[in-house]
Amino acid sequence: MARVQLRNVEKVYGGTVKAVHGINLDIEDGEFMVFVGPSGCAKSTTLRMIAGLEDITGGEVVIGGQRVNDLPPGKRSIAMVFQNYALYPHMKVRGNLAFGLKIAGKSKPEIASAINDVARILEIEPLLDRLPKQLSGGQAQRVALGRALIKKPGVFLFDEPLSNLDAKLRASMRVRITELHRRLKAEGLSSTVIYVTHDQTEAMTMGDRICVMQAGRIMQVATPKELYAHPANLFVAGFIGSPEMNLLEGQLQGGEFSIGAQRLALAEDVLARLASQPRDAVLGIRPQHLALDPAGFRARLTNAEFMGHEVYLHAEMEGQKIVAVVGAGEFEQLGQAEFIGLKPVPDHIHVFDKADGSNVSLHRRRLAA
Ligand code: ADP
Ligand code: MG
Repeated sequence: MARVQLRNVEKVYGGTVKAVHGINLDIEDGEFMVFVGPSGCAKSTTLRMIAGLEDITGGEVVIGGQRVNDLPPGKRSIAMVFQNYALYPHMKVRGNLAFGLKIAGKSKPEIASAINDVARILEIEPLLDRLPKQLSGGQAQRVALGRALIKKPGVFLFDEPLSNLDAKLRASMRVRITELHRRLKAEGLSSTVIYVTHDQTEAMTMGDRICVMQAGRIMQVATPKELYAHPANLFVAGFIGSPEMNLLEGQLQGGEFSIGAQRLALAEDVLARLASQPRDAVLGIRPQHLALDPAGFRARLTNAEFMGHEVYLHAEMEGQKIVAVVGAGEFEQLGQAEFIGLKPVPDHIHVFDKADGSNVSLHRRRLAA
């Protein structure tokens, strides 16, 4: 069993810098959990406390039902993969893979057979007799993965493992790692993964669930689908999704959202939790959920980015920027238009409280789902 539980986990560096503010999180056995957030939000600090590489200032880390706060890394049934690979430069790939098992006192035949297994899974057989400096970035990262895999740990901890690779390799390694996780699970090996990244695409494509962090706090924990459809607050709304969600400032009053001179009537369910007094709010609408429609918001087209199948329209309305994703065909039909109409798709409208950032349109829709 390799369930990982964080209970009120805190980290204070040097007695003064509070990096982690009492985090609570349950990661299920076999789950692929992603920690995502901007640089400095304490993803690595949290991961390193789970690994035992960093002291835990307060709270408890529990792995497989056992409190591990005082256990050294070697006794926690974890293996870690870093951004910089951390391979031993003077050892061949074979030696790098064997190292942990030798220390653990495994026999030569056991080690040889484990190396063969791992090399086959990661397709690094032809590389076994090379030194790390003779490997490309992608190959070195596969060897680093192999070194973690060979330990058969209960929990894999990844800290931005793909950040040093180019975009194409990153995309293929993403798939390779998720496939590997699925395969280990199918073979009945308990393989919980905690994967740290600042890249929302990695988070969305790899995670069973995603833990979105900001400034040492958890903003939301949910599946990729749930985060995309029901962001709990402005931070998550702006962080998850590409291109970013439009966040338009305006006022709520009498069933309408107004942005300058423009009005949008809101449906009952969106309004359910809103007080009747006028108030400042933020309208959230993803670029994919704006349709070209003369009855929509009137906006001045400032730029169009041709992406092939789609076009990203950049426009301005009431002094605010707005982005819409439309089909290439629809864009053609616009001709040389200076002004366009953009209409939000009703089911995908979010309203955020400007004061505390919470998604006030969330509650009713969730209940209905
Ligand atoms: P992330 O991995 O999300 O980029 P980190 O966990 O590395 O963030 O850092 C979280 C916060 O803790 C940052 O404000 C960082 O400056 C601070 N921090 C990290 N390591 C140390 C350290 N050894 N001493 C003091 N502050 C640190
Ligand atoms: Mg980090």
